[in-house]
Amino acid sequence: MYDVLVIGGGVVGGLILRELTKYRLRVALVEKEDDVSMGQSRANSGIVHAGYDAAVGTLKAKFNLIGNRMMPSLAKDLGVKYVNNGSLVVAFSKEEIETLYELKSRGEQNGVAGLQVIDRTELLKLEPNISEEAVGALLAPTGGIVCPYELTIASIGNAMDNGAELFCGFDVCGIERAQDGFTVQSVSGQEIQAKVLINCAGIGGGKIASLLGDSIIVKGRRGQYILLDRESGDLVKHTLFFTPTKKGKGILVSPTVDGNIILGPTAEEIEDDNVETTSIGLENVTAGAKKMCKNVPLYNTITSFAGTRAYTDKHDFILEESEASPNAIHCLGIESPGLTASPAIAKYVVEELVSKHFELVKNEDFQPIRKPDYFFKNLSLEEKNEMIQKDPSYGKIVCRCEQITEGEIVRAVRENPPARNIDAVKRRTRAGMGRCQGGFCQPYVAELIARELQIPLEQVTKSGGESYLLRGKTK
Ligand SMILES: Cc1cc2nc3c(=O)[nH]c(=O)nc-3n(C[C@H](O)[C@H](O)[C@H](O)COP(=O)(O)OP(=O)(O)OC[C@H]3O[C@@H](n4cnc5c(N)ncnc54)[C@H](O)[C@@H]3O)c2cc1C
Repeated sequence: MYDVLVIGGGVVGGLILRELTKYRLRVALVEKEDDVSMGQSRANSGIVHAGYDAAVGTLKAKFNLIGNRMMPSLAKDLGVKYVNNGSLVVAFSKEEIETLYELKSRGEQNGVAGLQVIDRTELLKLEPNISEEAVGALLAPTGGIVCPYELTIASIGNAMDNGAELFCGFDVCGIERAQDGFTVQSVSGQEIQAKVLINCAGIGGGKIASLLGDSIIVKGRRGQYILLDRESGDLVKHTLFFTPTKKGKGILVSPTVDGNIILGPTAEEIEDDNVETTSIGLENVTAGAKKMCKNVPLYNTITSFAGTRAYTDKHDFILEESEASPNAIHCLGIESPGLTASPAIAKYVVEELVSKHFELVKNEDFQPIRKPDYFFKNLSLEEKNEMIQKDPSYGKIVCRCEQITEGEIVRAVRENPPARNIDAVKRRTRAGMGRCQGGFCQPYVAELIARELQIPLEQVTKSGGESYLLRGKTK
């Protein structure tokens, strides 16, 4: 029997799992997909929000600010890329300048430091490609960017290195209350027992809540994106937002931590967790980006994708004990700024809610540091040579666009949390994320996965389930 079982391997579940391993507890995480970070934490803008957006006094405002302050050192500990690039909310009229002052005042009440409204001349100095129509902006120097799936994978990997267990492909479909806890059942017939459950299932969290006897309706709002090649990386330096209206924040234009440019997201109410892109959605993204900046090099588009925000009508984070099953905790309605807030949410949930069920005794063996940035291409020539001498597989480039070696791919399959499919390798190593989007390296990556997992090549999938790449041998 586990002390605590986390349901859902997104950034919130992942960081809660890691936080739990700081104490002497037996903990595990179940995730319905073949890999972690497959929900909202896979496809979002990756912005570490400064904290001027959320209404004063909300949990969103509180945890956004704390999470923003925690992110740089957390990212460093976990070997995850984070850049403090600052953000700009851009105004296109006098009325919007007034809104900027309201945002500044709200941000200051929330505790955000350094907010400043700047005029067009200052804005142009910061962002030479800004639209001719832009008249000023709110500068938030504490805004940043991080890679959301890297953060999720690293937090779960670090938790596993510290003793946590991970069960992928465990789609929770039943929860029975036992004498001193719960028996959790999966669609494939597995069972896990735990004293305390934490529901971090994102868009699937409403279903988990109902299995626990509660009624929390979680809805979906899709956001579509376009990603530009690294060649376009100098289009903007800050994250550029439109001034928010009643309809929302609109399309942003931002660099990513890997040097690409991200454009999006749209905001479309949808029935289910539908992450397809549509031509209308992508047209809206390009229209927004062109309104924000001059010379948007759309010819450098390398991919488009979508993610679904999981929200409730409360429009604030729900971090509370289940009404019907007091040994369960809900972490739901974690829409934006949930990525930013996730480290602060994790600390709160463990220290304030899990602590009601256990006496939290420190795990003196907890190792917070995952490992330094290990992208081979970032090493010096001497370091590269040293690594190749120890392991010649670092001398073989597999992904030419991103310069990723065989050694890095093998490590992704061997290290916690192990990659089991092509997309999982891609999220850990960037193999297949470049201009050709895996056109050249995919077969070789598939061979390496088959070799490492000791499975036939035909059984390698793109992203788990039945997403097989090959139907059988022709010769
Ligand atoms: C388009 C978009 C843009 C965003 N931009 C930002 C941003 O720039 N900055 C920011 O701070 N925040 C942003 N957010 C919000 C942020 O992404 C989320 O707050 C955060 O990722 C939520 O993480 P989570 O772990 O709660 O949920 P998720 O990442 O969705 O994880 C839930 C997990 O539960 C699993 N699951 C579901 N049902 C079951 C089941 N029955 N059994 C087992 N597992 C199950 C899912 O597969 C999933 O992996 C954005 C969100 C979206 C969608």
